[in-house]
Amino acid sequence: MYNHTQNENGTYNTRCLYCFMTVASSIESEKELDLLEARHICPERALAELLEMEKTIVASRHPN
Ligand SMILES: [Zn+2]
Repeated sequence: MYNHTQNENGTYNTRCLYCFMTVASSIESEKELDLLEARHICPERALAELLEMEKTIVASRHPN
């Protein structure tokens, strides 16, 4: 999940909505935004996924 903003000169910035880090700024094309976003390794998202996985494991060990 990323938040895009456009600068006055028409370039884009993108910010990750998990860790609120600016992934890239002054990017000229949306295609390039996609590439840069794909390269972002998000610590917050990794943590969230880990917690989610743990929850699933605990739930499967204790049915009902
Ligand atoms: Zn992130």
